[in-house]
Amino acid sequence: MTNYVFKPARQPYLSICESEHQFPVRRIYCIGRNYYDHAIEMGADPTRESPFFFQKNPQNLDLTGEFRYPPHSKDVHFELEMVVALKSGGENISKEKALEHVFGYASGLDMTRRDLQAEAKKLGRPWEIGKAFEGSAPVGKLMPVSQHGHLTDGPISLFVNGQCRQKGDINQMIWKVPEIISYLSRYYDIAAGDLIFSGTPAGVGAIKKGDVMEGSIASLEPLRIQVV
Ligand code: MN
Repeated sequence: MTNYVFKPARQPYLSICESEHQFPVRRIYCIGRNYYDHAIEMGADPTRESPFFFQKNPQNLDLTGEFRYPPHSKDVHFELEMVVALKSGGENISKEKALEHVFGYASGLDMTRRDLQAEAKKLGRPWEIGKAFEGSAPVGKLMPVSQHGHLTDGPISLFVNGQCRQKGDINQMIWKVPEIISYLSRYYDIAAGDLIFSGTPAGVGAIKKGDVMEGSIASLEPLRIQVV
């Protein structure tokens, strides 16, 4: 028996569509610049890059429908992304077997303190301060593969206060979901409970208090987040 010196932090989780069960979250991986037009708007050359990743903390997940504007930034951006949730994992998973590990998909926002990220990039420092802050990962309900199959194409769009800001199709990902899972499994021991943010299309931009962000991705449950 383990005798913790204090009560462990709560287990972060996601809700599941049409289910009373929760999906316990273990890790959150995020791929950078995975849509051509977004890579170009960030000043990168999308044709030359290997995939690269950063992580958010499971405790950064937020299911409240509100995004609290974080401190120490004057330029907080939305990035709407399809989130892939794994029910199993392993090492050195082949592309062909990768989708067998997917539990389901959800809509998520990779909220970013762009000014702090830009400073970190300039100084050659890690991105965490721009990416992994409190409430930086609002995510909607998971849609299980067992009921709705896999998602490989479909529109992805984000509206702020009713105005379209991001628009694309998830089939425009440079690295497809099976490739992402396979690649990650060569570097990490990926496992049940892991989430992968699969990148964002062009049009990322700043929000302010009072804004309402509405994201929709293919047949996934739409996301509606108020900035407070
Ligand atoms: Mn992102």
